[in-house]
Amino acid sequence: MFYTKATLTDTVEVKVELNDENVFCTCPDCGDEVCVDLSEVFADGIGDMYGTAVLCQNCAMRRIEHGKSV
Ligand SMILES: [Zn+2]
Repeated sequence: MFYTKATLTDTVEVKVELNDENVFCTCPDCGDEVCVDLSEVFADGIGDMYGTAVLCQNCAMRRIEHGKSV
């Protein structure tokens, strides 16, 4: 199990298990919140946590329609 951990106060620490419903990133084009399944994003084995961005559906479609690479 992978989880994220945050210390809220000196006595309160929160651990949240990562799954395909609670991991998000910000769309690099419009700034919308995008739900991310990390197992899909990194399935090819070449992604990394800092250099990978996930477009929202609208921006992905716009890039496809305009012929830009994603
Ligand atoms: Zn977007």
